[in-house]
Amino acid sequence: MTERLYWADAYVKDFEATVVSAEGNRLVLDRTAFNPRGGGLVSDLGTIEGQALAEVVKEGDKIFHVFQTPPALVAGTKVHCVLDWERRYRIMRMHTTAHILSAIVHRDVGALITGNQIGPSESRVDFSIDTFDKDKMSSYVDKVNEVVERGVEVKSYFMQRDEAMKVPGLVKLANAAPPSVDVLRIVQIGDVDTQADGGVHVKNTKEIGRVSGLRTENKGKSNRRLYFTVS
Ligand SMILES: [Zn+2]
Repeated sequence: MTERLYWADAYVKDFEATVVSAEGNRLVLDRTAFNPRGGGLVSDLGTIEGQALAEVVKEGDKIFHVFQTPPALVAGTKVHCVLDWERRYRIMRMHTTAHILSAIVHRDVGALITGNQIGPSESRVDFSIDTFDKDKMSSYVDKVNEVVERGVEVKSYFMQRDEAMKVPGLVKLANAAPPSVDVLRIVQIGDVDTQADGGVHVKNTKEIGRVSGLRTENKGKSNRRLYFTVS
């Protein structure tokens, strides 16, 4: 299993690691601060020994660092890794925003989150909800910004899967964690939102800055997509 440095500290911008395996374009390290694509989040980017990553993906317990061409690195090599921090920090701010937005909409109309896509320039959350006009959108975004300005602390901890499943609403996306995983990582944004989640977040909602709603789209009969960004 690759040690996930971003779970203990999402602010690691560069780190040293050892190559565990190198096959074709893919490299496995003993530890990584690169957050892989998944759970609606795009992959982190950056460099390993100065060679640019194309993508970072996870398969089971392993995290694969993918290059355009095979990197000239072999198992056992110590490597220096640098994150594209500007991109990553925006993903952290966007992702934390998605939590707050989802919680607020859920509280207001009980809408379920049917999907999300978090990227550095714009992000979106899908809700199973019938009506979602411009006024609604701005009222939700205003409420999100109130939480941002309140400077709410964001914490994470681990919990036994059995216990987590007993807490209503904790595991919002049933497929978020495979049933084989018996310990879940829980992310808590003060009194706003608590859920099982493996992604990267800011430590305090103040770091988000300012949230703007961009537009809404109808995706099917009762599926509404809301786009937002942070500045
Ligand atoms: Zn999250």
